[in-house]
Amino acid sequence: MAARDLIDISLQGDAQSELDLVLNQIERAFTTPFDIDGECYLIQLTLGGASVHAPQHDEVRLIEEAELALADARIEHGPIARDASIANASVDRQLLARELHQAIGGDQLFLQYQPKVHLRRQEVSSVEALVRWRHPTRGLVLPSDFIPIAEDSRDIVTLTLWTIEQVIRDQRILVARGHDLPIFINIAGVLLSDARFVRQACALIEKSGAQLGFEITETSVIRDPDSAIRNLQVFADIGIVIAIDDYGAGLSSLAYLKQLPASELKIDKLFVTQLTSSNRDPLIVRSTIDLAHALEMEVVAEGVETASAMALLSVMGCDMVQGFLISRPIGIDALLPFLDEERHLGVAQEIRSPFGRVSVVAKAG
Ligand code: C2E
Ligand code: MG
Ligand code: MG
Repeated sequence: MAARDLIDISLQGDAQSELDLVLNQIERAFTTPFDIDGECYLIQLTLGGASVHAPQHDEVRLIEEAELALADARIEHGPIARDASIANASVDRQLLARELHQAIGGDQLFLQYQPKVHLRRQEVSSVEALVRWRHPTRGLVLPSDFIPIAEDSRDIVTLTLWTIEQVIRDQRILVARGHDLPIFINIAGVLLSDARFVRQACALIEKSGAQLGFEITETSVIRDPDSAIRNLQVFADIGIVIAIDDYGAGLSSLAYLKQLPASELKIDKLFVTQLTSSNRDPLIVRSTIDLAHALEMEVVAEGVETASAMALLSVMGCDMVQGFLISRPIGIDALLPFLDEERHLGVAQEIRSPFGRVSVVAKAG
């Protein structure tokens, strides 16, 4: 088995202690060598797991927690089980804001990258950076839980400048390995009317020569259209590609859409995840693709989870796809082999779980 192979096991049980028990049982079962065709083999496993109280179940968060547990298990050389319910428990917003303030610039925040694949060219055309917070006691905190807090406290400025610097560093690593790809960064609406942020971001990017894109939502433009459109033009003028994120999910205005210096339009996953099971979503997606093309923008469908959705999007003329079918957001260490081995090419043929690994569903106890 290659070192990168992962096996997902999904269990249902009554308590967190059952997860501890299962991990320990698996570990014990593999301590003695196996005899296969007369040859003696010792299989080394690294075990990481996460559990969540069923009513709070969020598959994405649960898998990301399990992956963090796995990373810890590699360091600790023993099984690690996390209780993701603790991270989900209602949190004191002010306390979280103070903790976030201290975390920015330290090693608790990290970036994951999710590729966008160009359908006609069959190649990874860019990657999107998504920030994560590995909180020392709460576990993994996802951006939907802390970006709004950062926006309120103005920490979003330092957080985004940190992200830009980190992305510039990671892009250098990719280029050195032969992957010359633009990296897209999500830019919160409040920053589009912040002249100081615009100056600081442009200075960092121009000095580095990095190839970056910014993802912004239409809702963020509608808040203060004049200054947002002016600043987006400043970014576009220094070569930053502008993408409109979550199209269709928030406030939309055709009047602003045609004024934005955007070259990419990302259809919100809301319309993509149910694409092949809904009657209306294919119509909405089809007409959005035509609208974007009429405005000379390329279209990205986000939230592509199935091969059938990808096939339909391709027939509809969608330019790029992004989603769990191709890859979940992954760290730079996992992105490099993904790109080296062109793993996106195998996606349509593979009959595997949407997470690209072997999947086993079992019941504990
Ligand atoms: P977004 O930019 O629209 O990012 C897409 C979100 O969808 C990501 O969630 C990603 O993990 C998730 N996703 C990707 N593929 C699939 C799929 O196939 N199915 C499903 N169900 N989900 C998928 P994430 O990473 O939790 O980010 C949520 C939002 O937080 C982002 O939405 C973005 O608006 C914001 N965000 C993330 N990183 C940053 C950042 O560095 N700065 C700012 N300002 N916002 C950020
Ligand atoms: Mg985005
Ligand atoms: Mg989006």
